[in-house]
Amino acid sequence: MREFIARRGADDAWLCRCDNTPDDDGFVPVAGRREVAPTSTRWRGHYCCVRCGRIIRWPTREIVGHLDLVDLRLRPRAPQARGSGWLRRAA
Ligand SMILES: [Zn+2]
Repeated sequence: MREFIARRGADDAWLCRCDNTPDDDGFVPVAGRREVAPTSTRWRGHYCCVRCGRIIRWPTREIVGHLDLVDLRLRPRAPQARGSGWLRRAA
């Protein structure tokens, strides 16, 4: 059976099964276990929930997998380059 995450609010923000949203811990684009830029040719439209590790396909919001967060390799980024809420509560 196919599973999907919900949307919430007027702007259709993603709402993960773990209650994470883009304004909370956020989602990062991933290829395999590695965070990638959405512009990367390796990116297949998969996002990883930074809170629970679910892999979600954009734009259908289908849950296509699960990643152990200890295996997720995030891209290094300068603090000022972080989008709103990205990893705000992590660490
Ligand atoms: Zn989640």
